[in-house]
Amino acid sequence: MPQRQPFTTLCQLAARLPRGPQAGGRADLHVHTTYSDGTYTPRQVVELARRCGLSALAVTDHDTLGGITDARAAAPPGLEVVAGVEITAEYRGRELHLLGYFVRLDCPALAAALGRIRRHRVDRFHEMVRRLRACGVELDGEAPAGPEAPQTWGRRHLAEMLVRAGKVGSVREAFARYLKDGGRAEAPKVRLPVAEALALVRGAGGVSAWAHPSGDCTPQTLAELRGWGLNAVEVEYPELKLSRREELRRWAAALGLAVTGGSDCHGPGKREIGLCTISEEELSRLRSG
Ligand code: AMP
Ligand code: ZN
Ligand code: FE
Ligand code: FE
Repeated sequence: MPQRQPFTTLCQLAARLPRGPQAGGRADLHVHTTYSDGTYTPRQVVELARRCGLSALAVTDHDTLGGITDARAAAPPGLEVVAGVEITAEYRGRELHLLGYFVRLDCPALAAALGRIRRHRVDRFHEMVRRLRACGVELDGEAPAGPEAPQTWGRRHLAEMLVRAGKVGSVREAFARYLKDGGRAEAPKVRLPVAEALALVRGAGGVSAWAHPSGDCTPQTLAELRGWGLNAVEVEYPELKLSRREELRRWAAALGLAVTGGSDCHGPGKREIGLCTISEEELSRLRSG
């Protein structure tokens, strides 16, 4: 029964959450849905967050705010759905994922910029299909379509199509053979200059955070980004060493930046909801920008 396993994991995780009068609620502020390259629908992520006992969840799809309305409609009382987005940005010539939280869903400038990125992603998807063909891998007419289709197209979708078409044995193999960075069929994405992305989040009334910061993240780069409007840094995420989490927290505190965290859940077995969380106090500090 494949459905059982994630829930078992969730129960184990829930059991590990701090308890007692001071514990308060926990917030997972980094979750993807079927609106981008997650495999849970917004309704499913809300249900999983409820089962985990979370008090807040941010839906942070790549370059779209599309899943938030569905998630809010499905949310029970006591579960806040934070409007989030993970913007594909660029900093010092490298990709940087910028989380925008508490953004207005009807900000025309943000909506237009995200729409542009998504349209480029569709062109890039077709380009990668062409590159696969040049490698002798034919993939015609198999992309999901209709109302269930994602709003933001990415390499995971292409990897899953390759698996369904029997061209590779697994998503992992699809990346290893064709789609990894610099791979034979990989094509670049359009990336928003980070200063522009920061201004857009601010303009939409939101708070920004550097998602899963890389080795590029130092007190100097954090200070530069703070100067351009960065509010927070993601310090709790899967696979991050405890010592690095502590270091990032120290730097954030010294620079007056808030902290955030989340699972970066993409579906069952792809980092479960509730795997990484922040406290209610950290969420209210983040909310204040
Ligand atoms: P995209 O937004 O189209 O560039 O796709 C990025 C997604 O591809 C991320 O969610 C990663 O999890 C996934 N990804 C990137 N590189 C690899 C890799 N080498 N193996 C498996 N997944 C990868
Ligand atoms: Zn993703
Ligand atoms: Fe990311
Ligand atoms: Fe993410």
